[in-house]
Amino acid sequence: MPSLHATFGDQIRSTPLKPSRVIPLLVVCAVCAIVFTCAGGFIVYTNTQHLISTRNWLDHSHSVLTSLQTEAQRLDRVGYEIQLYEATGDAAEKLAAQTAAVSLHAGVLNLESLLNDNVSQMRHLQDLDTQVRDLTQAIDGFERPGIVPERQIQDCRRSINTVQEEERGLLRQRSDESQNSRDRSLLSGAGYLGFSLFVVIVLFAFLLRDAVRRRSFERRISLANDQLEATIEELERRGAEAILLKNARDELQLCVTAKEAQGCAVRHFRELVPGSSGATLIINNSRSMLEVAATWNDPSALSDAFDMDACCGLRAGRLRWRRPGQSELHCSHFAGSGPENYVCIPLAAQGDTLGFVYLSFPSKEIADLADGRMQLVQEMVELASMAIAGLNLRAKLESQSIRDGLTSLFNRHFMEIALEREVQRAVRRHTSLAVLMLDVDHFKAFNDTFGHEAGDVVLRKVAECFQQSVRSEDVVCRYGGEEFVILLPEITEELALAKANTIRHNVNRLRMKFKAEVLRPVSVSIGLAMYPAPAIDATDLLRMADHALYDAKRGGRDRVVVARESFSDHGDKRLSAVLSQVSEASESSPVVV
Ligand code: GH3
Ligand code: MG
Ligand code: MG
Repeated sequence: MPSLHATFGDQIRSTPLKPSRVIPLLVVCAVCAIVFTCAGGFIVYTNTQHLISTRNWLDHSHSVLTSLQTEAQRLDRVGYEIQLYEATGDAAEKLAAQTAAVSLHAGVLNLESLLNDNVSQMRHLQDLDTQVRDLTQAIDGFERPGIVPERQIQDCRRSINTVQEEERGLLRQRSDESQNSRDRSLLSGAGYLGFSLFVVIVLFAFLLRDAVRRRSFERRISLANDQLEATIEELERRGAEAILLKNARDELQLCVTAKEAQGCAVRHFRELVPGSSGATLIINNSRSMLEVAATWNDPSALSDAFDMDACCGLRAGRLRWRRPGQSELHCSHFAGSGPENYVCIPLAAQGDTLGFVYLSFPSKEIADLADGRMQLVQEMVELASMAIAGLNLRAKLESQSIRDGLTSLFNRHFMEIALEREVQRAVRRHTSLAVLMLDVDHFKAFNDTFGHEAGDVVLRKVAECFQQSVRSEDVVCRYGGEEFVILLPEITEELALAKANTIRHNVNRLRMKFKAEVLRPVSVSIGLAMYPAPAIDATDLLRMADHALYDAKRGGRDRVVVARESFSDHGDKRLSAVLSQVSEASESSPVVV
């Protein structure tokens, strides 16, 4: 998770968008765009106005020149008509000359109205006006034969020419000005257009850059989102796995025997890899063979029991896959041919190998699924190993707490519990129960002669002899030191006495060696007591057997004494029981004291 935060943080930090700079920049750009647009509009407006004005002045000059042209033609007509009159004497010609002169004057007045803003031209027109008036008067007063008013006509022509010349000069000047204005307008238009294009390109470049950066930023955010989603999925998967493991751990903790733990483990293996089959295999007590302890989904190819070295995974001491392309070597723990895909994982805990877990997969897909979950499977194997080892240890400790370490017989604590249980059972079933209290004779002297270790060997042998001499349901216990107690349930006194003598006889016949030294034969003295009569309860029974044993010792050892009377009946410790003493050596009847 920290790495994810770092990545996402880095991406956010590396963002190209800096709002603190972008917003003022946009405001400045907007203001500049407004100012620039207004300035452009103003320039275009001024240029257009100027162009229109120069165009108007040009048109004005053209119309003035046209009028002057017309005036020149009228003047020619005046001269022509007057000459025609002079030649023909036709009054109509004179009238035509007068009419043309009137038109000429009207044209001059029109010109004056056109050129009233031009002082110089107005002065020339006033001269022309005067000359036209003179010409009109001269025509009006002309009679033939007479002299044609050629001078007045010439004066008028000169004046018209003067005005024409000046107006042409003005026309040239205005044409130039119009040209300049057009050029200026074109230039400023081109400049404005160029600058506008530049600004638009720059703005678009900025927008494009921002768009590219935004897209890259969005891509990084999308990537970070994908990573986040993947991480969440992974966390959810791990959560589910953790729950599964926790459930397995909880269930394993509830198990009280290793067998129960194995059953619980296989249930969870089946859940972890659906479609798989397998088994837990445990090393037997003699540590020579592996035996199938629990299975799921019937791993039929697997043998029920096989040698320790049959499993390659167990030999390697680690998880081992067998599948095509990875490892083709088969383990030899199959009844026939092994499956294509399987895995063996050793079960080991507290430095001890307990066995292994075998998982087989019917298809490559299921094998791939298992491969993906192998870490979880291994964790499950570890949990199962720890649980099984813990329960084994517990069983061992329990066994040690009820068994004697030297002889492996039940200990005194267990004997007391078993005695209570057998007394209850005898009451329930209305049967009798015999208790034998046995003590090795002169054992101190034996120890002194042969040593303590030899004494231990004797105790073990004697214990073995006791166990071999009784039924499996009889309880043989080491009471302490060289003293033993045997509980014989559901037996009559006669049979119990016979059994006691058999035991004594068997002990006598024991021949033992210690470190190549032949040991002296040993004998035991035995006190026998019966329940429900004469003993009335478990305490009484033990006490009676103990006193009978005491009597057997006092009677010379290597014999059986039967307790006849309960201590509880008299309330004192006096040995008042009638005892029967039986000596194997003398083969006599039991002695009754
Ligand atoms: P008695 O015939 O009267 O029973 O004589 P005893 O010597 O057997 O009796 P005593 O109670 O005087 O001595 C018991 C001896 O048993 C003393 C002790 O050294 C020995 N002993 C007790 N427990 C063990 C044991 O675990 N191993 C060995 N080697 N000796 C033991
Ligand atoms: Mg003793
Ligand atoms: Mg003894």
